[in-house]
Amino acid sequence: MGKLCLFYSEEDTVYVCKCCGTHLTTYKEIVSKTFHGKTGEAYLFDKVYNVGTGISEDKQLSTGLHRVRDIYCKVCVTVVGWTYDIAFVPSEKYKEGKAVIELFYIKKVKFSELHEEMLKKHSLSQEDEASHSTQANSIMAHLPANSARSSIQALPQLSMLHHRY
Ligand SMILES: [Zn+2]
Repeated sequence: MGKLCLFYSEEDTVYVCKCCGTHLTTYKEIVSKTFHGKTGEAYLFDKVYNVGTGISEDKQLSTGLHRVRDIYCKVCVTVVGWTYDIAFVPSEKYKEGKAVIELFYIKKVKFSELHEEMLKKHSLSQEDEASHSTQANSIMAHLPANSARSSIQALPQLSMLHHRY
């Protein structure tokens, strides 16, 4: 059995598989944002990573005949788009070797923003630590009592706590 080798981009803005978080491509690789797939909006990327490809088939698309293959996430095997092997119409040749991914299947992650958010959350959770733990303790004290009323009251507090992290 082969070992699964994954590529992790160090660029700031990457597109990851919505299902499993695997890096599939980056913002820099976008060639065109005007493509459409079964689920709606899709982008054409110059390079994609961590994908496998299906069997090639000739398809008559709105822009002419193309030889295409499905591409799927190597980790969770979700089909996320397709790649062009051959474009038979000369004006469409620029697509050869490139891949289309439907936005429905990917999530944009900007690491600089993510980092800032984490820092903000971290300082917030330190300020609130004391009130959090007493709140959590009182909820814990209520739960074993097995009263329907107290667990209903505790639920919104629990979800609030959850959101802050
Ligand atoms: Zn995946």
